Amino acid sequence: MIRLAFCGLGAIGTPMARHLVGDRFDLVVWNRTHERATAFAANQGVRVASTPADAAAQRDIVITCLPTSREVSALLDGDDGLLAALAPGSLLLDCTSGDPATSREIAARLAERGVHFVDAPVSGGVSGAEAGTLTVMCGGRDEDVERARPVLEAFGQRIVHAGPVGAGHALKAVNNGLLAMHIWGTAEGLTALAKAGVRPDLALEVINASSGRSNSSENLFPQRVLTGAFPRTFRAALLDKDVGIAAEVARDARVPSPLLQLTAELWRMAHNELGEDADHVEAVRVVERLAGVALRAGPLPTPEKPA
Ligand code: NDP
Repeated sequence: MIRLAFCGLGAIGTPMARHLVGDRFDLVVWNRTHERATAFAANQGVRVASTPADAAAQRDIVITCLPTSREVSALLDGDDGLLAALAPGSLLLDCTSGDPATSREIAARLAERGVHFVDAPVSGGVSGAEAGTLTVMCGGRDEDVERARPVLEAFGQRIVHAGPVGAGHALKAVNNGLLAMHIWGTAEGLTALAKAGVRPDLALEVINASSGRSNSSENLFPQRVLTGAFPRTFRAALLDKDVGIAAEVARDARVPSPLLQLTAELWRMAHNELGEDADHVEAVRVVERLAGVALRAGPLPTPEKPA
């Protein structure tokens, strides 16, 4: 039986870790807010670790799912940190949407102790994590990715080996850069159309039958914007971080990337305005405010007649 530790029971970490409960894996969990870990483990036969080091002791694979690579790196440090307890030959599997440069540094620190590293960010959202249908983008050595595969298959449907350490994080960041562009662009287009007298639901119906469609137009806008529901599944702060990584990846590669750089700037602005807890789709509210029109289903308010 593979001995696992899972560190980071947040919005997506929790449903991912649920797939690791059961007979196939021997699971230990750790979370910064201890009560979240005890609530997760209650009546599940899962042990709750008191520190990251306690979680990593005698584990074959330690999974991290934290906001950014900064927190993952910090989790290695100190007497209570992962590095103090990860056994030579073990594997750190980082499911954070992190940044390639920090991941390469982490991998180098681990390698000094004979510990292996794979970056394995996921896409598919909380609903994909619950359904066990995530896409996982891996960066690392072939043998390490193969070793991680049975664990990743517990919550992932498509496990892709993208390249060396950092490649998974780079791919994930670019994917989310595109998501950020689609949300912002769709919001700009629909607010412009609303002001021109075209109903957002009608506009989406046409766009979704035409070449301008995206996951944003097909799912996020009909389900969350037109309804005004805005459920909190993925924080805008995290998408801001992802677009920033994508912009940095492009800059590091010396690739002209004005659109990515602009998108990063827009999302930094939205993050500042919305705060730490808002959902990513709530960035549409920022565009609505700038445009002076709200996108909701049903008839548009009658435009005011000029005096
Ligand atoms: P959340 O903000 O919901 O959870 C973050 C987790 O990290 C919590 O367990 C939190 O602990 C822990 N944490 C935060 N800061 C620290 C710290 N300094 N030291 C130790 N632990 C810390 O994030 P998500 O679960 O949504 O996201 C996790 C990662 O997955 C991110 O990189 C995100 O970009 C990515 N992701 C998220 C998706 C989503 O739909 N939510 C989709 C795809 C990827 P505590 O309970 O104490 O706050």
